[in-house]
Amino acid sequence: MSATMPSPVGPGIVSVPLSAHFPTRPGWQCEVCAQPWPCPTRQAEFTTAIDAGVGQGVALLLASSLGRASLDRPDIGADRLHEQFLGWINADLYSRMIGGRPASRVSA
Ligand SMILES: [Zn+2]
Repeated sequence: MSATMPSPVGPGIVSVPLSAHFPTRPGWQCEVCAQPWPCPTRQAEFTTAIDAGVGQGVALLLASSLGRASLDRPDIGADRLHEQFLGWINADLYSRMIGGRPASRVSA
């Protein structure tokens, strides 16, 4: 099973292929490799998607997934869920995701 991630911004649509590393619910682990989702494979695919220009779509997907997971797993603390869904995003990747300049290239 595979899917693509269409651009949320309309014209200039970019589609990024995604593998079958989708989350299970309500556990929020990868259905392929059983690691906490997004697993390393999906993180790499999201990074590719961000660099292809659909970072805002990745951000929306992660935010909605985090919200859904907080409803599915009230037994897991918010800090742990935040770390699972967003902890792999460093400042440079975040800047690219939201369409800004990479943090390492920002000058004062
Ligand atoms: Zn996986």
